[in-house]
Amino acid sequence: MINTKLGLILLSISTLTASYQLHADDSDHEQHTAHVHGEAQLLIAQDGSTLELEFHSPAMNIVGFEHQAKSKKQIDALEAAIDTLNQPGLLFTLPSAAQCTPVSIEVESPETEHSEHAHEHEHEHEHEHETEDHSDFTAHYRFQCKELSRLDRIEIELFKRFPGTERIEVQSISKKGQQKIDLTPGNNSLEL
Ligand SMILES: [Zn+2]
Repeated sequence: MINTKLGLILLSISTLTASYQLHADDSDHEQHTAHVHGEAQLLIAQDGSTLELEFHSPAMNIVGFEHQAKSKKQIDALEAAIDTLNQPGLLFTLPSAAQCTPVSIEVESPETEHSEHAHEHEHEHEHEHETEDHSDFTAHYRFQCKELSRLDRIEIELFKRFPGTERIEVQSISKKGQQKIDLTPGNNSLEL
């Protein structure tokens, strides 16, 4: 599981609002059972010249299934999704004046999660098998922005890329403070 400063910052917000579950390192199992198909979460934080975004989504929204990919079609869908998630320019439209450049991209797909953590987390792995009917994608992006003060909005293109997504719960921290907003395909712009 990706563990970031952003996650830690937003964990405190999540504790306060407690309206949805932001997972910690060890709560993969809970995340799996808690997600709702069609809904996803996006965490956004600005700090200095750094912009961080963390996206969590049920695999159903991304590839249309949650069991382990078996057929070629399913494996292709998974690979295409990973490829798209590795291109933040396709997912987020940032104001060009902010001059943001991606400096770090991490994508965890259900499959890589299984393979990478099989040895480290034998115990959790067993849990994952018990809840194999649900799986998630997590993606983390870090941008460096030369003019972060010009970052006044973000257009979320995830709806376009992954039409199975009906609603994204966004939590953000910017210079204007914290906000929590639900975005939809028809309302995909976040004011910062
Ligand atoms: Zn599910």
